[in-house]
Amino acid sequence: MSQRYQELIKASVSVDKDSDCWLWRGQISNSGYGRLMVRDEHRQTRIESAQQISYIAFINTPADGMMARQVCGNRLCVNPQHLELFDARTRSQRLSALNIQQR
Ligand SMILES: [Zn+2]
Repeated sequence: MSQRYQELIKASVSVDKDSDCWLWRGQISNSGYGRLMVRDEHRQTRIESAQQISYIAFINTPADGMMARQVCGNRLCVNPQHLELFDARTRSQRLSALNIQQR
């Protein structure tokens, strides 16, 4: 699974030599993040954020409710070394407090 994801990610990025960011060249969501369609072990397809798949591919599967985000500030970056996990439930509370529309 993760090897297939690694190849998928590597085939969909171009590396920025200055920042070492892996810039996503595939689909981009309305909120400006890379996204892609993946098929899970049950052959169900779903949309996932590119940084989430990169995290799963190169580091680990995050615990429930945890999501990957960029620490370099580039929403299109999927370099696993530029990613950290955050608690998505906390973030959605923060976004709704700011009245930002969720995807
Ligand atoms: Zn980056």
